Amino acid sequence: MATPSAKPALIPINAVIFVGFPLLALVLVPAWGLYAGFSGAQWIWAVVFLYFNGLAITGGYHRLWSHKAYKAHWSVRLWFALWGAGALQNSILIWASDHRRHHRHVDDNDHDPYSAGRGLWFSHMGWMLREYATNSEDFSNAQDLTRDPIVMWQHRNYVALTTFMNLGLPLLLGLALGDVIGTVLLVGLLRLVVNHHVTFFINSLAHYWGSRPYTEENSARDNGFLAFLTYGEGYHNYHHIFQTDYRNGIRWYQWDPTKWMIAGLARLGLATDLQRVPDFRIQRALLDMEFKRAQVFAEGRKEKALLDILESEYQLFTDAINQWKQLQTERYERRRDQLGDALEERRQQLQDRWEQAALRSRFRELEFTLRGQRKRLSELLQQWQLQPALG
Ligand SMILES: [Zn+2]
Ligand SMILES: [Zn+2]
Repeated sequence: MATPSAKPALIPINAVIFVGFPLLALVLVPAWGLYAGFSGAQWIWAVVFLYFNGLAITGGYHRLWSHKAYKAHWSVRLWFALWGAGALQNSILIWASDHRRHHRHVDDNDHDPYSAGRGLWFSHMGWMLREYATNSEDFSNAQDLTRDPIVMWQHRNYVALTTFMNLGLPLLLGLALGDVIGTVLLVGLLRLVVNHHVTFFINSLAHYWGSRPYTEENSARDNGFLAFLTYGEGYHNYHHIFQTDYRNGIRWYQWDPTKWMIAGLARLGLATDLQRVPDFRIQRALLDMEFKRAQVFAEGRKEKALLDILESEYQLFTDAINQWKQLQTERYERRRDQLGDALEERRQQLQDRWEQAALRSRFRELEFTLRGQRKRLSELLQQWQLQPALG
């Protein structure tokens, strides 16, 4: 009889996939390598499959379907549905529904399906091995996705699709390359296991290891090294605060192949409505965190002069936020007026264009204000950190 503390039942098929497959890969891939060797073409195909799977998860399952960070042409959605099935991480519908609950209840052990609060192993893959109560298949948070015919087609035919993508396709490729067993082992098995673990890092390591420049309200971290392994998803602290942004690494130099792929698709006309968080909101989040840390530092030092400077800087910060909100309201009202006055549109066009440009430059000014303030704050703290504490 089960005791209250007993773990939920193991899910046999998942145990085979997540424990059996890696063990098989660990034994069979080196064995075949020693016995017959792998060709350069097989390695290249393994990497190509890895990226097709990975980007279908990050660009499709995650940013497109879970977060609606952009819209994609049906051919792109079909591509993501096929290669996403090949990643063997469940159907789009189940994945996205779980992921939306992860964001909504992040770190809540009773509602977040892969809560980091339940440990590194649990958030990495433990959550998939047993019948945990948090794994309920409740799609009430994904009703929009049930209206996407490609999502529903993939959901209904998931087993056939994933079998074809993981076994059928490597088998055909093996026939073409003249080594079926080696290709199935490398492009089929090893590629699958590697892709599993790098994408699972986003739920596990990206909630443990790295910095929190935007918010400390949840455990998500920014980590450039993890971004390199996870097709750009390592900027997870940013992602948790601004989840609708199609980018995770917002600086041009931050490794985010998923964002580059989406921008490329947009250039080809295959992706539209790319969502970007306004720079002001990004700067505001950064500055807010910097103020919090400076406050802790100043209180620790008990320096009244420093506390006073911080207070007046914070006042400037609040003023800038209020001005920005005011501008947002103005912009919103202007749009509403335009809708009401459709007939006068042409006459107003010239004036509107001028006013919009003026509005844009005021927005830009406020962004500069925050950037300047961040610079001042960091210089101020550097100076004070060099001074010996008084008391
Ligand atoms: Zn997360
Ligand atoms: Zn997300």
